[in-house]
Amino acid sequence: MKTMRIWHRRLFLLCIICNLCVSLQFRRVSSTSPASQTDHGHVDSNYGRTLNQEGGDHQIHCSRDRSRAAWKIIQEYLMPFVEKEKYHISKRCRLHPDNDIYRDQEQHKFHIDINEWQCGYCKKTFYEEKHLDQHFDNRHSNLLNMSESQCLADVCGALHCDHEMNSGSKKSKCNPAAAARNKLLCESLANGCFPVNEGPAGSRLHELFLHQFCDAHSCTGSRKPFSRGRRKKTNVFYIVVSILLVILLLLYYLYIYLYQRGMKRETQTLKRISQTSRKKKPS
Ligand SMILES: [Zn+2]
Repeated sequence: MKTMRIWHRRLFLLCIICNLCVSLQFRRVSSTSPASQTDHGHVDSNYGRTLNQEGGDHQIHCSRDRSRAAWKIIQEYLMPFVEKEKYHISKRCRLHPDNDIYRDQEQHKFHIDINEWQCGYCKKTFYEEKHLDQHFDNRHSNLLNMSESQCLADVCGALHCDHEMNSGSKKSKCNPAAAARNKLLCESLANGCFPVNEGPAGSRLHELFLHQFCDAHSCTGSRKPFSRGRRKKTNVFYIVVSILLVILLLLYYLYIYLYQRGMKRETQTLKRISQTSRKKKPS
């Protein structure tokens, strides 16, 4: 009986220990699970935010690449003439910088080195421009200029963005309906941005705009876009190199001149010495 009691006690103690172990384990699990829940909550809240941002992005149906191409075309093929005429483009014109939702972000894009692009808002750097674009979409989409909600890419058809973007690739077949649509859009831009009734500068630019962009929207004509030319690029690097080359050439000729002069003097003195030595010999 005594041994039985001892065994009972031992079993009882074992049970208690087991119970304690199980409860401790459970507590450990339950103590980690709330943390994981909070973690999940955190992730969820972040996820929701990114989803919201993504949702925000989905609301913006405006191609960044095409907007950038349109901006580049405006800067190269239109603004030199607008600046020459000292003409002020009004906000009603769809080509006005305020009507480009990506303008502020693009102005906060810094190309520091070949493989270094920096975000002007948070100073983060990226190897490629497209990664910086993604960063803008994910982190700074709240800074998009949504006040006018105008998309510069919408006028791409009129401005020949495809021609500029695929300049190296083969030309696609001309679609008469698309050409007519683009011509109409192009003419409406000319009317909206450079009204003929607003002075001689406006009418001159109106005419130029038609020649530069609108005339080429035809499948039958042989007119090419941007017939009036583009902004001439003055490359600082080439200017510096050419100045250095001119300086080097001048130094080279100066060296040759001085060398020849020195040689002449030497031969003259040698002649003199030989002459005097000849005169001295007979005596
Ligand atoms: Zn940033």
